[in-house]
Amino acid sequence: MELIVLGSGTCVPDPVRYPSSHLLRLDDGELWLLDVGVGCLQQLMRAGENPNEIDHIFISHNHPDHVGGLAALIQSYTHAPGFKRESTLNIYGSNDVGNYLHYVQSFSASFESGFDIAFHHLVDGQEFVVGEAILRTAAAIHPIPTQALRVESYGKVLLYGADGAPCDAVTELAIGADLLLLEAAYPSSMKSDVHQTIVQAVEVALNAKARKLVLVHLYPEVLAMSHDQRCSEFKTLNYPGEVIFADDLARFIF
Ligand SMILES: [Zn+2]
Ligand SMILES: [Zn+2]
Repeated sequence: MELIVLGSGTCVPDPVRYPSSHLLRLDDGELWLLDVGVGCLQQLMRAGENPNEIDHIFISHNHPDHVGGLAALIQSYTHAPGFKRESTLNIYGSNDVGNYLHYVQSFSASFESGFDIAFHHLVDGQEFVVGEAILRTAAAIHPIPTQALRVESYGKVLLYGADGAPCDAVTELAIGADLLLLEAAYPSSMKSDVHQTIVQAVEVALNAKARKLVLVHLYPEVLAMSHDQRCSEFKTLNYPGEVIFADDLARFIF
């Protein structure tokens, strides 16, 4: 698999970090977008990727830093010369996500175009198959319905934790992951009921025996820390895997 971090940021404006979106290329060529933060179109272009080649979009939850780019993406497929889409776009998410998609489609009749959007309603704990991939969801702990996603394809596993405080369901979903894509919102001095800290993210990786941990959704308090300060937060855990604080456009092949 190949993962490209399109947006490692949050809702907090930042000159070099876009809100959450990530591109996942499976070994059979299927292309997944994991969340659609504002600016994901621009980031796809910067990454040298063609938005028209995206087959599937998973949306973890309806916070604007994860879904704010959806209308622009659909508009580009509809109106932008050279980007007109013909193939079906598959969008996956909770009932809330389905409602948001319906809203996006409803506010402009001009979005009704030459391609179909197929919405796939996901419930918590659902396992489903798309092509060669086996996927599974779990509910995260966040103020609105939020789902984490496990993607297993050709023997490799990616876990996208989305937003959320640590919880057993997400840790269980992460077991044996080759790459764990988790939020590290805050330093450990800033505990939260709806997000997780750096050390809590590393604890998930440790408990799940994940091979590599890629940390995103970095709030300013984490960005203000030096690399050594960030690493000192979790050094006593002795996690044997690699921990990476990702910048936008970071690529991982695993
Ligand atoms: Zn959120
Ligand atoms: Zn968020």
